[in-house]
Amino acid sequence: QQPVLQADADKVAAAVANGEREEAAPDAIRFDAYRAAGGYQLWEAVRSGARDPEAVIIALDGAGLRGLGGAGFPAARKWRSVAAQPAPRNMAVNIDEGEPGTFKDRHYLATDPHRFIEGMLIAARVVGVSGIWIYIRDEYPALRRLLAEELERVRAEWPDLPPIELRRGAGAYVCGEESAMIESIEGKRGMPRLRPPYVAEVGLFGRPTLEHNLETLWWVRDIVERGGDWFASFGRNGRKGLRSFSVSGRVAKPGVVVTDAGITLRELITEHCGGMLPGHELYGYFPGGASGGILPARLADVPLDFDTLAPYGCFIGSAAIVVFSQDDKARLLAENAMKFFAHESCGQCTPCRVGTAKAAELMKAPEWDAGLLTELGRTMMDASICGLGQAAPNPMQSVLRFFPQEVGAAKEEGDA
Ligand code: SF4
Repeated sequence: QQPVLQADADKVAAAVANGEREEAAPDAIRFDAYRAAGGYQLWEAVRSGARDPEAVIIALDGAGLRGLGGAGFPAARKWRSVAAQPAPRNMAVNIDEGEPGTFKDRHYLATDPHRFIEGMLIAARVVGVSGIWIYIRDEYPALRRLLAEELERVRAEWPDLPPIELRRGAGAYVCGEESAMIESIEGKRGMPRLRPPYVAEVGLFGRPTLEHNLETLWWVRDIVERGGDWFASFGRNGRKGLRSFSVSGRVAKPGVVVTDAGITLRELITEHCGGMLPGHELYGYFPGGASGGILPARLADVPLDFDTLAPYGCFIGSAAIVVFSQDDKARLLAENAMKFFAHESCGQCTPCRVGTAKAAELMKAPEWDAGLLTELGRTMMDASICGLGQAAPNPMQSVLRFFPQEVGAAKEEGDA
């Protein structure tokens, strides 16, 4: 099967950097064009009751659609569990896209925003929400203007929609975490909440809340129209579905690649990225942004998907693949990641606040103290409140495990 899309992320990035809406999203499919091509028919069927809400959820279930912001929670289960909560219910959409190396949501918003908006409206109707809050990172000002304009156009068409509010993030990485995002939308400091209660039970403004990443909603229309089997028919190496990989680093053709779940890095580079840059040999890669750990070149044939990387202490998250070569040092990348986490820690809990800063300091030593760093990493993983602190040690631990020669560590532990 062929990938359904391959985009030039550099082109989009350059346009967005330009700051003007027209230049930022020259290829965006606007409301009239989207509608003329059959858009919003499914929404109208769901809205009028011609399409059974349960059939929509069954299609998502059949597709195996999971939360594509990184957590991978099954979408159908989330819809069911929020719908079962007492009304009024709210909805929060996450377009914070702060994971280093991730730019797929930006691509979808810049090219086909209504496919996302239609998915959002369908979700809101099926789950029965009273209000929708969209949280978009402030670094996407042109796309925010585009989204605001297109939402106005949608409201002009269907004035009885629930209120839809656009909220600007302020650059905090932790606000991509769902409960921190909710705090931020509520006007408070973006600090993750302790759970339980879960956001599906007590979320935005104390109401049961359906929280989704943009891309998860982007797929809803196609999955329901074409059937869950269509989405599940993609995939390789035993995995099912489509994934949007944000590929960057030392490859000839970086960009957003939409292709089979379970594709390996080697296949991804060869089939979709034009190989490595001339003069560069694969040395390692981040399979899931800064937080998903680092894998060495000899693990380039591992299927990339949710759950497949756990034996290596890594995860795919939002599928941000950063490829590096013999010209790079894994230890420097890991140090950089740890400094980033130390800077972005919200400071609420000690293992993360102190642990990230301490680790960043210890990692400056020419020879790493493997025992101390391992113990520190375990403490952060076990005792941090949210995913930031729990995942922060991943790149550091990957270096100890797969690149020990760079840090004077005694020996390599092996692959699994
Ligand atoms: Fe804040 Fe870090 Fe604790 Fe998360 S793990 S709540 S970011 S201090």
